[in-house]
Amino acid sequence: MRGDRKRVLVTGGAGFLGSHLCERLLEDDTEVLCVDNFYTGTRENIEHLLRHPRFELLRHDITFPLYVEVDEIYNLACPASPVHYQFDPVQTTKTSVHGAINMLGLAKRVKARILQASTSEVYGDPQVHPQQESYCGHANPIGVRACYDEGKRCAETLFMDYRRQHGLAIKIARIFNTYGPRMHPNDGRVVSNFVMQALRGEPITIYGDGSQTRSFCYVDDLVEALLRLMATDDATTGPMNLGNPREFTILQLAEMVIEQTGSKSKIERRPLPSDDPRQRRPDIGYARKTLGGWEPLTPLEMGLRKTIAYFRDRSLRAV
Ligand code: NAD
Ligand code: UDP
Ligand code: UDP
Repeated sequence: MRGDRKRVLVTGGAGFLGSHLCERLLEDDTEVLCVDNFYTGTRENIEHLLRHPRFELLRHDITFPLYVEVDEIYNLACPASPVHYQFDPVQTTKTSVHGAINMLGLAKRVKARILQASTSEVYGDPQVHPQQESYCGHANPIGVRACYDEGKRCAETLFMDYRRQHGLAIKIARIFNTYGPRMHPNDGRVVSNFVMQALRGEPITIYGDGSQTRSFCYVDDLVEALLRLMATDDATTGPMNLGNPREFTILQLAEMVIEQTGSKSKIERRPLPSDDPRQRRPDIGYARKTLGGWEPLTPLEMGLRKTIAYFRDRSLRAV
């Protein structure tokens, strides 16, 4: 620790999850260094933090080396939605792999703890349900999602090897679908798509027959888990599933959004994208046990209400 205060680096801090994490870290007596290249994140997400005396913003691409002095690193930088990560797939892999190497090199030099934002996508299209951390996954190394899935899998490998080879204090969080205010309105993810479509009175686009499932975790619950994981002892490395185990079909989600927005939007079917997982639900037993009884507290109905309010307010401001 330099001086009295802990200095925490959040890569991807101007993104959806990163901005909420920065906000939460500032509630403690922590200095926060937010590093972002604004690939998918925005200044608007952290506008309210810019004047905070313990907040610092650095525009930087983590595929290049970074020399700063910090005590903890949350490595969140990476486009997360299929539309964004498939836009420039080579850059996506570079961010996951080169970015991880640089952040691990930094952690090694300054002896910082480092947490990796990994993903449920490491399980690919799972054949085991729900997914436990011991499941090695069913990923396609050459498909259109591979830049993200395999990039994140390789990052996990690097984290484990920096621990085995250099003794780093690492943490790997496998994050399942998370939603909430500050999601990118055009990121193509199902919650933002459905809410924006409902608010605009446009058709709600269901890919496939809508029977595929996801489990949605509200952002505040996820951020709480990330903080608790970072605070675990050095022996706890993960990988650890973090998400909400309540599972919904995409059709149920669409109906809930229509009901909550009071929208007149009709449902429209579109083809299912390739490699789209049929089912996804985390087994969070390990997280519950290790993170002091942590579990998601926000029901989908309540989280959706807050998310809809955010998008509604945002579209009014844009008019
Ligand atoms: P996001 O796109 O809102 O945030 C990612 C941030 O990283 C953005 O601000 C972007 O500008 C920044 N970034 C991208 N490439 C960078 C680079 N090379 N250098 C510096 N900054 C860069 O996405 P998010 O939903 O907030 O996701 C954050 C992290 O959590 C990602 O690593 C993602 O893979 C992981 N994750 C998210 C979810 C989810 O449901 N939101 C699920 C699983 C994993
Ligand atoms: N690195 C960095 N910041 C640091 C220390 C290292 O960005 O404070 C980068 C550096 O560019 C290197 C990478 O991290 O390429 C991996 O560092 P490491 O020390 O593990 O390996 P080496 O320098 O031997 O390649
Ligand atoms: N989806 C959908 N309509 C949309 C956007 C997504 O039916 O407008 C589906 C998508 O095919 C997938 C699920 O919703 O089955 C979740 O998609 P998302 O891109 O949010 O996340 P991921 O597939 O990475 O879990």
